[in-house]
Amino acid sequence: MKKISIFGATGSIGQNTIDLISRDPDAYDVVALTGSSNIAQLAADARRLNADVAVTADESRLDDLRDALKGAQVEAAAGQRALIDAACRPADWVMSAIVGAAGLQPGICALEQGATLALANKESLVCAGALILDTAARHNARLLPVDSEHSAVFQALVGEDLKAVERIVITASGGAFRDWPMDKLANATLAEASNHPNWNMGQRITIDSASMFNKALEVIETREYFGVSPDQIEVLVHPESMIHALVGFHDGALMAHVGPPDMRHAIGYALHWPQRRNLPVERLDLAAIGALTFRAPDEKRWPALRLAREVMARRGLAGAVFNAAKETALSGFIDGHLRFTQMAEVVDAVLNQIDPSHIDAPMTLDTVMVADHIARQTAQTIIEQTAG
Ligand code: NAD
Ligand code: MG
Repeated sequence: MKKISIFGATGSIGQNTIDLISRDPDAYDVVALTGSSNIAQLAADARRLNADVAVTADESRLDDLRDALKGAQVEAAAGQRALIDAACRPADWVMSAIVGAAGLQPGICALEQGATLALANKESLVCAGALILDTAARHNARLLPVDSEHSAVFQALVGEDLKAVERIVITASGGAFRDWPMDKLANATLAEASNHPNWNMGQRITIDSASMFNKALEVIETREYFGVSPDQIEVLVHPESMIHALVGFHDGALMAHVGPPDMRHAIGYALHWPQRRNLPVERLDLAAIGALTFRAPDEKRWPALRLAREVMARRGLAGAVFNAAKETALSGFIDGHLRFTQMAEVVDAVLNQIDPSHIDAPMTLDTVMVADHIARQTAQTIIEQTAG
């Protein structure tokens, strides 16, 4: 039996992971499931999957979790320390699907135990790519991409030599505002930004898709994971979300990964890797689809893409600063303190205003956390000035 843990089990990726393992319950021994506010879901899944421990990140909900688990043989725990402890429990395969930089530390702990880390939490690589890769190498642990684009690139590279790669093209649906007139963007509402045309995902990544901050994170994730240079990475707007990525080789070949917009493919690929197993995803009928379309991304509409290039050129801890500023600006938009277009302005301002010593510090978990913290404070101050 494969021992597995799911961090962020109550979210969109977590629930899709649970959907897959529930189809073959005898194959998995569930160690830990974690969530935050959705205690009922966390407890129900922990009971059904017979987990050793259920952890809520929200310290104040421990009693609720204990109540919800009454009579079950599942330990209840709460808070940041409990999350880390759960990540230290031996497991063969760990899904990292917490949203935001909060996923970084549990992921590092899982790698330190030598677990295979299925990484949906792209923020980890953006904040601390070198640290994550180095931790994996030192502990002989494997890191498998779960982002659909990165899983697609990973699959297109099977049997290939990275040195033969000329470019990596990741696609973007363009999100909710792909076809909106530019002058309407400033007045986009939360409900409008939370409505993705193709993918069913958590609210934060859905809004990040509309602003292309998600693609900006993914461009950096591509650089970190595959070790290619920034000028080898392209973004291609592809409204149908059927081709997830393409890898261009020196001989002119472009290998595309085509599949339905269903995260269970990328999750299942990482779950069964290096094998391929039957997965419950739609089989595409390309004749019925008829045509796939593509366009170049417009950096005026999506300034996040330009910011990603600046972050990659800046190197150091710029990724951690960028992600923390983005998370804070996103919360500012969700809470009604910022307009949609002001998110990119805040992130740009944080990158310019933060003391460069935070970006130039050598990368350790501590320096990443400090850069993250200072960037959040700086962003918060800018948001208050903007809103005030
Ligand atoms: P979600 O909002 O649906 O779920 C997030 C999960 O993280 C929940 O279980 C929540 O309880 C937990 N969580 C939230 N804040 C936390 C905190 N501070 N500490 C600990 N746990 C916390 O998010 P999602 O859409 O499932 O995305 C999860 C991750 O996967 C993100 O990094 C996202 O970018 C990435 N991802 C998601 C998709 C998708 O289709 N949803 C696709 C590619 C990558
Ligand atoms: Mg993606």
